[in-house]
Amino acid sequence: MVLKIAVIGAGIVGLSSAVAVQNRLPEASVDVIADKLTRHTTSHGSGGLFAPRAEGIPEALENRWAKDGAEHFFPLAASSESAASGVSFITGLKLYNSEKPVAWVKYMINVQDVPPELKPHFLKYYK
Ligand SMILES: Cc1cc2nc3c(=O)[nH]c(=O)nc-3n(C[C@H](O)[C@H](O)[C@H](O)COP(=O)(O)OP(=O)(O)OC[C@H]3O[C@@H](n4cnc5c(N)ncnc54)[C@H](O)[C@@H]3O)c2cc1C
Repeated sequence: MVLKIAVIGAGIVGLSSAVAVQNRLPEASVDVIADKLTRHTTSHGSGGLFAPRAEGIPEALENRWAKDGAEHFFPLAASSESAASGVSFITGLKLYNSEKPVAWVKYMINVQDVPPELKPHFLKYYK
């Protein structure tokens, strides 16, 4: 008898869950059920920047997500699979106005403090 599994949702969470389940259970029949498909999901239009952060979750879990994500995404972005996977490095600034450094930045690449002389400039625009 074939094990039948349904995943509800065709955004990034539903699709990656479906792939993970299918990889784990190759014999199973996995269906994705959703009322909106690719173009009309939140996942399709959003930025897709990798920066693991969620309010109210334990620091240890946030660190694990950061480490697992970095170990998965960074080699992919640096590989010949980059274009096909849609995972690539981009340049830019993401500013955090926090008192203490967030713990997971140690797993990121090229995270820097804003130099003190530039802080007034940034704080003028970002609160
Ligand atoms: C402007 C913007 C920028 C963002 N930038 C980033 C970023 O840079 N990095 C980042 O990590 N995150 C970013 N996010 C957040 C990220 O996009 C979302 O957390 C993520 O896309 C959510 O994925 P999801 O699969 O949970 O939901 P969705 O992509 O919304 O998919 C939900 C799916 O469930 C289906 N569904 C829901 N309810 C039902 C139902 N009752 N019956 C049937 N189907 C149902 C929908 O049809 C859809 O297929 C951003 C979000 C926005 C809005």
